Amino acid sequence: SRISHGRAAESAVKGVVEEYVERFMAMDDPYLRERSTDVRDVGQRILRYLSGAETVPADIGEDAVLVAEELTLSDLSLVDASKLKGIVGTRGGATSHAAILAKSLEIPTVVGVAGVARATVEGDAIIVDGNSGTVYLRPGDEVRAEYDRLQAQFAAFQKGLEKLRDQPAETTDGHRVPLYANIGLLADLDFADAHGAEGIGLYRTELPFLSYRDFPSEDEQVRLYRRVIERMNGRPVTIRTLDLGADKYPSFLDGEREQNPFLGWRSIRISLAEEDLFQEQIRAILKAASDCPLRILFPMISGVEELRRTREIYSECVFDLAIDGIAVRDDIELGAMIEVPSAVLRAPQIMREVDFVSIGTNDLIQYTLAVDRDNRRVAPMYEPLHPAVLQSIRAVIEAAHDAGRRVGLCGEMAADPRCTLFLLGIGLDELSMGPLHIPVVKRLIRSVSVSEARSIAEQMLRYDTIEEVKGYSFARLRELGLIEVVESLA
Ligand code: PEP
Ligand code: MG
Repeated sequence: SRISHGRAAESAVKGVVEEYVERFMAMDDPYLRERSTDVRDVGQRILRYLSGAETVPADIGEDAVLVAEELTLSDLSLVDASKLKGIVGTRGGATSHAAILAKSLEIPTVVGVAGVARATVEGDAIIVDGNSGTVYLRPGDEVRAEYDRLQAQFAAFQKGLEKLRDQPAETTDGHRVPLYANIGLLADLDFADAHGAEGIGLYRTELPFLSYRDFPSEDEQVRLYRRVIERMNGRPVTIRTLDLGADKYPSFLDGEREQNPFLGWRSIRISLAEEDLFQEQIRAILKAASDCPLRILFPMISGVEELRRTREIYSECVFDLAIDGIAVRDDIELGAMIEVPSAVLRAPQIMREVDFVSIGTNDLIQYTLAVDRDNRRVAPMYEPLHPAVLQSIRAVIEAAHDAGRRVGLCGEMAADPRCTLFLLGIGLDELSMGPLHIPVVKRLIRSVSVSEARSIAEQMLRYDTIEEVKGYSFARLRELGLIEVVESLA
């Protein structure tokens, strides 16, 4: 209306945005008050478009480190990630989705660094050590020299690991554990190949969705899934249906603000409520299926009812396609993510409804320990080696094997070298992780026998405290001469 009253577009936008920013700033609720930043951000983007200056991605120059108060998935899509040398965020935890995406782009990332955004001035030198989670702002010469040395050492270590690219992840007594890649964007496929992934264990389909303005059409989805399947060229591909909600909220989905979004309207709950969208996605996956072993994974299953309803919807999709003359292969496997404590407790019943399961420790840890995966203040309590987490993993594996089902693990824990011997020894059939971590996990698996790993895992389960679990497993890693491998990344 201001434009039609004769104001220039830029001035109209600027005035209106400022009014909104002020209104948000005046709100009592701290969450809403903070949203003023988003409004300002949107305003700035519109102004850049209006001035014709918008070149996406934003020009960030070479050797840039992105320092942000709050890192969002959409921010990351606005910069040319190939130029980013590091990312630092004030808020968030290491398994927040923006951090996972940054890691998948192989950019050293440290989140949860209080005050860093305010303390940093453009042009500052900064060292981002993604392995230890340390950030040095305006480092002195000694620290710089030390990091030059560490960086060279780390590069040599990684190079050594790359020699394992075409070797299997096989223990000294011949037990093999396929190592798969977690992917989100098509760009991840290059990394999966570069690091020798044997397939895709988790394709987070919501990540490409977040960069769309509208819900991608069925045809667009078919094209996307087909590219992943074709690229894997016969290797297994596990496509997870949409896991939207919580910290993954696309602009096209209407949502009211929730007090506890991780306990709210997210994941399979959205898919089951928005059945048309769910059916579209399932049909797209089925149409994209070709000769490779294909698995469909349903996220955040909390009980048998959800799985039964999901399978009904799946059968309707197969039926609809048949009516259209499209035959669906009958060897597609259906699986459930085990990432909610109720699914651990009901694992024996869940196994009857699926062909396989995959343990999602990122969520399972947060729900089991009641520790937000995205909250800096409680990050030290987010502990994969907590006895309750280890026990839950064992319970799921037992239930799966009793029912003759395969069980994998695809949370960040799969990539954590401190946990590898436990996961191997406790009997996981496959592990899926950010491709960068495949070589080091493979190196550890190739260094032990499965019977050694079993006895380590059994002993780890006997302790009452995290401290004891860690003390014992580190001592064993030291004895086995593997502590350097683990510490090179810690
Ligand atoms: C998990 O929860 O462990 C998982 C793999 O899913 P996401 O990180 O996408 O929630
Ligand atoms: Mg999850």
